[in-house]
Amino acid sequence: MIRRDLIDLLRVPPGKKIRLKDYDPGWAQTKELKQLGKDAVKARAQAILQQNLEDLAEAQQLLYANDVYSVLVCFQAMDAAGKDGTIKHVMTGVNPQGVQVFAFKAPSPEELDHNFLWRYMKALPERGRIGIFNRSYYEDVLVVRVHPELLERQKLPPGKRGAGFWRDRYEDINAFERHLVRNGTLILKFYLNVSKDEQKKRFLERLENPEKNWKFSAADLPERGYWDQYAEAYEEALRATSTEWAPWYVIPADNKWVTRAVVADVLTSSIRDLGLEPPKVSAAQRRVLEEARKKLLKE
Ligand code: AMP
Ligand code: MG
Repeated sequence: MIRRDLIDLLRVPPGKKIRLKDYDPGWAQTKELKQLGKDAVKARAQAILQQNLEDLAEAQQLLYANDVYSVLVCFQAMDAAGKDGTIKHVMTGVNPQGVQVFAFKAPSPEELDHNFLWRYMKALPERGRIGIFNRSYYEDVLVVRVHPELLERQKLPPGKRGAGFWRDRYEDINAFERHLVRNGTLILKFYLNVSKDEQKKRFLERLENPEKNWKFSAADLPERGYWDQYAEAYEEALRATSTEWAPWYVIPADNKWVTRAVVADVLTSSIRDLGLEPPKVSAAQRRVLEEARKKLLKE
């Protein structure tokens, strides 16, 4: 397990102004480990991940057996920060029937005919399940904020689109999440914090390694040009929407193994904190079981 106080450092305190610059994308747990070099960090992170995957599989089973809580995990990040790889690695070992993954792209005409939360609402996890959003309703205060022409397409009633408009959206999101939490959804939000240098490295890798060519999207490079605007939109969104009931975590993302280990750790310990027990069998149910057992033995 990663130490609790370290995890606490990654959680964005509600209502506090944050600067992404204060979060180190290259964070690798401890100075000692960093000095040991990249391989040591990777080995340690892999060990933590392995343990967490086993714990997560168990936690997920309890979640399913109880059929009361669901878990919603939102992943947001700049391009090439490692959302897909993190989802893939963290979810290995979990019963596929217990997990639902949704990746959100630019909204369709049908989706644009509804309120901005509609398409996400339809994809929420059922009780007992873990739902993963690869991008989420946060895009509607991030990419849409950075590119106002996208907001034009949302067919909203006329009105000002200044700071007050975005404050209203944050308020809507907080109220939406509050509603979900009150109804049994555990919400975790991960911002994978990759540095601009590391993104460049990963883009180059995609361009130069034929096996990774497919990962490069021509749209990614122009978006990189908006780096500062995105960083600002993220800072504001994280500050406005990291709440007691649905916290944001800023996950160091320059080191893939660290990202995966930390996400798995936060996820596992948060589900554990629900304090779930295997469902109790009532006296009446026990009698039914006993009858069934006797019948089978008599065959
Ligand atoms: P990817 O996840 O790399 O396949 O890219 C999906 C694309 O869809 C990204 O460029 C997102 O910015 C875009 N996208 C996701 N949600 C929205 C949204 N609500 N409005 C506009 N664009 C979006
Ligand atoms: Mg992409």
